[in-house]
Amino acid sequence: MSRIATTGEVLQLIRSGEATTRAEIGRVTALSRPAVTHRVNELLQRGLVVEDAEGPSTGGRPPVRLRFNAAGGVVAVASLGASRTQIALCDLAGDVIERTDLVIDVEEGPDAVLGLVMDTWEKLLEGRGPLAGVGLGVPATVEYARGRTESARVMASWTGVEIPPRIAKRFPVPVLVDNDVNVIAMGEHRGVYPDQDDLLFVKVSTRIGAGVVSSGNIMRGALGAAGEIGHIPVRDGGGVLCRCGNLDCVDSVASGTAILRTLRERGRDVETLADVTVLVRQGDAETMAVVRQAGRWLGEVIASAVNLLNPSVVVLGGDVAEMFMPLVSGVREVVYQRSTQLATRSLKIERSRLGPGAGITGCALLVIDHILDPDAL
Ligand SMILES: [Zn+2]
Repeated sequence: MSRIATTGEVLQLIRSGEATTRAEIGRVTALSRPAVTHRVNELLQRGLVVEDAEGPSTGGRPPVRLRFNAAGGVVAVASLGASRTQIALCDLAGDVIERTDLVIDVEEGPDAVLGLVMDTWEKLLEGRGPLAGVGLGVPATVEYARGRTESARVMASWTGVEIPPRIAKRFPVPVLVDNDVNVIAMGEHRGVYPDQDDLLFVKVSTRIGAGVVSSGNIMRGALGAAGEIGHIPVRDGGGVLCRCGNLDCVDSVASGTAILRTLRERGRDVETLADVTVLVRQGDAETMAVVRQAGRWLGEVIASAVNLLNPSVVVLGGDVAEMFMPLVSGVREVVYQRSTQLATRSLKIERSRLGPGAGITGCALLVIDHILDPDAL
């Protein structure tokens, strides 16, 4: 390190395992011995680091090892869905301490929903602490810096709402808010693909959205609208009018809503996406063909994204990813045809492995990365 290392940077070295004794920290940072002691003491006092006495014996007194203390604080997180909200407390490593689900319609508005979420955190927090931060994922575009919901996909009553000040009134800690798909993309990257720094997560549910991890970070764009791929039009979509007013947006032809509509038009008795998944598992030829065609249209948009971003892995999540085989075969067919050879040489297209917990994990990481950031400490 060329300049004087801060306390936050010393914590970073301990967390990553790069330097875990005072002597190693001194060597890596070139800090003087008193300066190392000062920073380590500060971290010990804040409970972010603990001392482990055991170490490899070299004859003399073993050096005291320093270890990041994941139990040094808790973060409160919530992943808001259209009809179901997951709420949890996590430790500073992002592991869930306690989790509960709330059945509440987000359209009841920010006052009702956030009030209930905060009441739930308060109950979960009894006897625990200290609370270090709060993280939320919401099914809307979020102007990340201000935590303000922009154009809400399903949360019309939330448009323009700045969430952090409402939370900080009751919980005066850092509050971070991001789009739900971004949060899941981060959860997938850190939880399942920690070695893949370039990952594209595509959520195919009632709507289609994407989260882009580029060089290990979420790419949000200027206002937080990066990854909103649902309204990119496809070729030969058949002239379907999208709710945005354009024709043949991928959302209007390949989303779960579109798959249900197509099957019903063909006289199939399907209520929900779970019904469609059952038909796919039974190998129903017509259903498989419909899902595969949706996969091809989705593949058109993914192929362009692959050319633009060169991810090493594309992860498909959401309810429609439950119909993975026909969906991914359609996606692969088009992506390998239309993306450049270099971009697809080692490209993997996988199914989300984190499942419904991905949002919670992602929210926890979002807030932990912020509060433990060397510049924030
Ligand atoms: Zn559209």
